[in-house]
Amino acid sequence: MSLSYQHIYHAGNPADIHKHLWLMAVLRYMTRKDKPLFWADTHAGRGLYDLSSKEAAKTAEAAAGIQKLLAAKIDHVLWQDYVAQIKKYNPRGGLGSYPGSAILAAMLLRRDDRLSCFELHPQEFTHLQNSLKKYRHSHAEKQDGLRGLGAYMPPPQKRGGALIDPSYEIKTDYEAVPQALARNLKKFPQGVFMVWYPLLPAGRHEILKEQCAALEAEVLIDEWIYADPAAPDHKGMYGSGMVIINPPYTVPETMGALKEIILPLLR
Ligand code: SAM
Repeated sequence: MSLSYQHIYHAGNPADIHKHLWLMAVLRYMTRKDKPLFWADTHAGRGLYDLSSKEAAKTAEAAAGIQKLLAAKIDHVLWQDYVAQIKKYNPRGGLGSYPGSAILAAMLLRRDDRLSCFELHPQEFTHLQNSLKKYRHSHAEKQDGLRGLGAYMPPPQKRGGALIDPSYEIKTDYEAVPQALARNLKKFPQGVFMVWYPLLPAGRHEILKEQCAALEAEVLIDEWIYADPAAPDHKGMYGSGMVIINPPYTVPETMGALKEIILPLLR
């Protein structure tokens, strides 16, 4: 099956904010300890998104997400850290470039950490390779992310985990993801695995949640619901979900506090 999803149409939307803040919170916590770690981004996308491109302008999803939030004054240390990372890619001010999950991870990880990013779409993969070039502790692989992840488990560093962020173009992903988690947790029970999923009226995410909740690990589910699916003018996604396996100590509290501040601003 050929892939048609391109994240450039959605970059910087409310779901990206939710997912990328979780990623920042987890990686900031894990890099406090002076021991190298391994991180994987199984569905990395292109790394860096040009919000002035015609694709991003067509949907203008960033207007309801990062652009809206940057205009609000949010007083939280993790939010300010996230904004500081975005500013590194916009040194002259404004918001032309938005760093996605792979670039955020590359920025937060240290020289001795290792980052493996997987992307199957040929065009996205070329962009990804270019955007990761300057991060010597990172590399990109053009292969299936769930299969690729398995090959690195358990990592020799014995610390780390992965962000699993499929586009769910292939509906079997809702079941393939928990199956992959079960396999990888057997090999690396202490791994921190994060899964993003969309909240859509079809409700396919319920099966993913049920199967994740049954995994033999600590499982946290966090949903940001920012639209009313029953509203007459509503179409498509109404919220963003994250499953976090083995959430690091204090990170759920940090994200809970941020949710209270940010979610009302996205509604
Ligand atoms: N994680 C990115 C971010 O937050 O910046 C966004 C990723 S986007 C939601 C999903 C990406 O997965 C798309 O670029 C798509 O081409 C890619 N993809 C789809 N199936 C894949 C697979 N089996 N293995 C690796 N990548 C895949």
